[in-house]
Amino acid sequence: MNDRALLGDEAVALGALHAGIGAAYGYPGTPSTEIMEYLLDAESNGADGGFVARWSANEKTAFEEALGTSFCGRRALVTMKHVGLNVAADPFMNAALLDIKGGIVLAVADDPGMHSSQNEQDSRYFADFAMIPCLEPTDQQEAYDMTRRAFDLSEELSLPVMIRLVTRLSHSRAAIETAEPRRPNPLNKTEDRTGWTLIPAWARKRYAELIGKQEKMAELSETSPYNSVSGSDGKVPLGVITTGLARNYFVENAVDLDTDYRHLHIGQSPWPKEKIRSLIDGSERLLILEEGMPLLERYIRGIGRDSASVAGKLDGTVVRQGELNPDNVREALGLPARASLEFDPGRLPMRPPQLCQGCPHEDSYRFIKETAAKIGPSVVTSDIGCYALGVLPPLQVPETVVCMGASITMAKGAAEAGHPNVMAVIGDSTFYHSGLTGLVDCVADQAAVTIIIMDNSTVAMTGGQTTRLASARLPQVVEGLGVEAEHIHILDAMRKDHDANVAVLEKELAYRGPSVIITVRECLETLRKKRSAK
Ligand code: SF4
Repeated sequence: MNDRALLGDEAVALGALHAGIGAAYGYPGTPSTEIMEYLLDAESNGADGGFVARWSANEKTAFEEALGTSFCGRRALVTMKHVGLNVAADPFMNAALLDIKGGIVLAVADDPGMHSSQNEQDSRYFADFAMIPCLEPTDQQEAYDMTRRAFDLSEELSLPVMIRLVTRLSHSRAAIETAEPRRPNPLNKTEDRTGWTLIPAWARKRYAELIGKQEKMAELSETSPYNSVSGSDGKVPLGVITTGLARNYFVENAVDLDTDYRHLHIGQSPWPKEKIRSLIDGSERLLILEEGMPLLERYIRGIGRDSASVAGKLDGTVVRQGELNPDNVREALGLPARASLEFDPGRLPMRPPQLCQGCPHEDSYRFIKETAAKIGPSVVTSDIGCYALGVLPPLQVPETVVCMGASITMAKGAAEAGHPNVMAVIGDSTFYHSGLTGLVDCVADQAAVTIIIMDNSTVAMTGGQTTRLASARLPQVVEGLGVEAEHIHILDAMRKDHDANVAVLEKELAYRGPSVIITVRECLETLRKKRSAK
């Protein structure tokens, strides 16, 4: 038994450590951040030596770094949040064609309900798209066990394997039983280059092999202990299929059902077709409860009998948006709502999310806002980070927040559409993540865009991880990408410099080429943590 209760994220991290990883790479993103935080702590405390844990510039570089480790025969874990997988999609999709010897596991945390994300996308689609196995834990114990199993499966099938988490599991705690740690693989470079060189002739062969592995993957799913059937025998009025946390919500409510039912829980995909067919044939009505999008439901509607009655998200029986919970699962089962206390939220004061009091971004936005008001029509695009909160009152400066790096590229598009006074706001870490290539485009086409890099020396939104390169390097990087030195400014994000900062921004907006203003002041939260650590 582990001596402390672990978050779901931490259970994945410990599972990876005990699976004998050689390396772990990731980019911070809620709700996945704590996986790497645990491994970074373990590395600095010298636990289970022989592995490295590193944040990367973005999810794509993280995935590729892990591939390098795997190429050398050692096991590697990659971590990210669901939207990060869009960034890593290129290496992720191609990795399914590689001859994996050192197991590679992607732990990706989805955020149904969008607690801290810009969409609700379901990473299981990516596993299905890449034709690789996906394991979906229901509790912290399974998060630990499945992570260990995922590495074995990866080496058995010579494929990457996905562990799909969701916010409620990532961020809740339970004690777990651990098993004897496994020794890491020896360093052993893959010698057959046809398995790692995706030139068309060899890639076609590899793709045929990937298709050939699907049968074996299906067999493993049929016999997997994570795909289990329980409940009554014979023909039953109700068949229920759950995935992930939906199992917990169903079990909690099933005691109140006054009808016989059979329950198939699926923790490992590809879907166990025979088990599903048997459930369909043995049930008068089928209810599908899955956290996320109706992926399984769509699949089942495809393989079931035409006459089978299937209820789920697509017919509105189960809520389509947001998280499942015991109450909405209860409603989907047709059970009466449980008695609950009357609660009038109208009496509570509204607390919209906002920047910390005294946040440096506020001073940056104030001079941007004043400049925009002075100069007439303008466009301000923003990126992903604490500064996206500037979209809300009282600041209300940025007009767009779409995805990592889009501030700069959208600004370029707006400038080239003919809009004057175009500004892009991006943080230092996001600039390294996805802003660099957008700036290359701006320089190449001499786009009339002023980019404001709000440099607070940290990845503030996810808890204060260190930006990949020190702040002092930022002007050199910008100049190195081709922005002329006279159009690069380093300003203090301080109220006392407000008027001077307005003047600089106004001057650069009049310039018909790319300019960069770096506003510098450390995040207050990071500063506070540093002081209390002393
Ligand atoms: S955490 Fe830092 S950057 Fe984020 S709002 Fe607070 S002070 Fe600003």
